[in-house]
Amino acid sequence: MHDLSGKVAIITGASRGIGAATALAMAKAGASVVLAARTVDQIESNAAQIRKTGGTAIAVACDISNFQAMESTVAKCIDTYGKLDIFIANAGVIDPIGPLVTSNPASWAHAVQINLIGAYNGLRAVLPIMQAQQSGTIINISSGAAHSPMEGWSHYCAAKAATAMLLNNAQLEHANDHIRFLGFRPGTVATYMQSAIKASGINPVSQMDPSDHYKPEWPAQAITWMCTPDADEFLGQELAMGDEEIQRRAGLI
Ligand code: NAP
Repeated sequence: MHDLSGKVAIITGASRGIGAATALAMAKAGASVVLAARTVDQIESNAAQIRKTGGTAIAVACDISNFQAMESTVAKCIDTYGKLDIFIANAGVIDPIGPLVTSNPASWAHAVQINLIGAYNGLRAVLPIMQAQQSGTIINISSGAAHSPMEGWSHYCAAKAATAMLLNNAQLEHANDHIRFLGFRPGTVATYMQSAIKASGINPVSQMDPSDHYKPEWPAQAITWMCTPDADEFLGQELAMGDEEIQRRAGLI
């Protein structure tokens, strides 16, 4: 329904969950997609599935916590498709869930290295390209946890809050570069991440019934819509899956 013909997109964290569904939705909308994540067999199988249904996709092994890996993913995209129009900063981790007071400092820092530094690595790798071409769309997959503390998620809340501010900063510094910046809170979505949250039993989110969560196809369709000019009036904002106007505009209801 949404048209991304001729566009080229990188989606991080495309091995499963929201990222895998977004890669599929964007390919169906006509974009050529780069699926980036650490689990190579899974991104290769997702890319093969997209190609089988007539889409254009490649898989690139990438650990976003490593800047060189992120930079070579972007280089592979340019080598393959000649440009980069859309960057979806989606990869993220919730583990290790647990109280701050007993947290393991190395594990806590590693989660921040992925959720915050990984987002920085993505921006740092794509901004020079989008600045040079004076166009592009960058969508940060944020969370309600960026704005409200949750028991057991100190690493996640702190990193998501910092990443939302990082996006604001990028937007301020690139106000004249015709780059479209958007944040997106997907609500609670039935993915591995919610299974890990449920298993922890730690805070009210872990008590939710799995049937309360959105299917990954919902945020995927909303993110695809956000890449189109129809969403231009929302540029610079963090949109929420739970907002009925966004659901309507994305064609979900
Ligand atoms: P998920 O099913 O656990 O998927 C996370 C994805 O991130 C996987 O593809 C994983 O792939 C990738 N990833 C993790 N660490 C990575 C790294 N170092 N380098 C590259 N890729 C990495 O989670 P999800 O629910 O789809 O979450 C996607 C995004 O939505 C995250 O940013 C999350 O914070 C956000 N979010 C989710 C919910 C929810 O309810 N599910 C709510 C709010 C926000 P590999 O392990 O193969 O690398």
